Amino acid sequence: MTSNKKLLILPGDGIGPEVMRQVYRVVEWFDRKRIVRFDTAEGLVGGAAYDSAGTPLTDETMAQAQAADAILFGAVGGPKWEKLPFAVRPERALLRLRKELGLFANLRPAIVFDPLIGASTLKPEIVRGLDIMILRELTGGVYFGEPRGIETRADGTRRGVNTQVYTTSEIVRVGRVAFELGRKRKNKVCSVEKANVMESGELWREEMQTLHDADYPDVELTHMYADNCAMQLVRNPKQFDVIVTDNLFGDLLSDCAAMLTGSLGMLPSASLGEADSTGRRKALYEPVHGSAPDIAGKDMANPLACMLSFAMMLRHSFDMTEQADMVDAAVRNTLERGMRTTDIMQTGTARVSTSVMGDTLLRELDKLA
Ligand code: NAD
Repeated sequence: MTSNKKLLILPGDGIGPEVMRQVYRVVEWFDRKRIVRFDTAEGLVGGAAYDSAGTPLTDETMAQAQAADAILFGAVGGPKWEKLPFAVRPERALLRLRKELGLFANLRPAIVFDPLIGASTLKPEIVRGLDIMILRELTGGVYFGEPRGIETRADGTRRGVNTQVYTTSEIVRVGRVAFELGRKRKNKVCSVEKANVMESGELWREEMQTLHDADYPDVELTHMYADNCAMQLVRNPKQFDVIVTDNLFGDLLSDCAAMLTGSLGMLPSASLGEADSTGRRKALYEPVHGSAPDIAGKDMANPLACMLSFAMMLRHSFDMTEQADMVDAAVRNTLERGMRTTDIMQTGTARVSTSVMGDTLLRELDKLA
């Protein structure tokens, strides 16, 4: 039995605690079955932390996050805190965690589960069996580049400036994550930029190719322009396995890929930092959805995005492939049994609550153990 994997759980606001409760049950299940024991700690984050301590993330919680092997994050925000000054808004907690943990690689899988194929706006034959990974560089590029700002010119008109900038080291570190992910998947990486019109894109392409040739020649590497990638994602998404791209293009392409699946309540994500000397990376796992104040407290939220984020944690932080596959299979089987929360409801299926979805998932895990 493996033990002492330090896990920090930050449920947050709105439906965050509701979906996280179901993940807790799975953590306890793994412990009960003597498969793995996590050393778990829980903290307040977002509006909940503001209400208790006047800040969306206390220094103590930040220190716990620095010491953790992985962080599982629910969601933050809600109408109660919308009027707060920008510096103490719930969302600032996530930005601080990303910044101080150096989380530069954002992983967003887009998986179409057969029972939910009707939720996609694309034809079933285009998306059936889809399982791709978008890897977005998260801390560089045009969202952070200098100079930036809005200036007023001598003639009274204004000029807005942002700078797209990448260095070799920023490209190489996200490239390594891409090739390593590729090796765990179908061994195919597509690197995406606009090398035809942007020098930063030209550098991106050259550095990816150099890294590939030096350290990852066993992985298939292709290059694609971002506009073509957007088109290919809706034309024939199954041609891809791992797509690696910069912050700006990744922002757009990951949302586009997510919507191939059609359901926000099913989308997990991970953000990874630099590897330390043991190969362990700082890592935060969270569902893509927000705190859903419209359904909070009603036992209606879909817990599966949070559950799939937990499965990503098993896979990427702890190399527990078999256990991650089990959680993924339990999610798949829960859907096969016709269990649906309101957001993924279809005719001929049963509308169930968050907790009943959790009950079913545990029963499916029992069958797989
Ligand atoms: P949202 O994702 O919270 O909700 C959008 C819609 O999807 C709502 O109708 C909601 O009911 C539904 N939905 C979302 N997740 C669901 C789930 N698991 N099960 C069933 N239905 C689900 O986005 P929003 O409404 O734009 O934002 C609400 C709050 O969440 C805001 O305060 C926003 O700032 C915050 N937010 C936080 C994060 C985060 O914590 N990472 C991300 C996005 C938004």
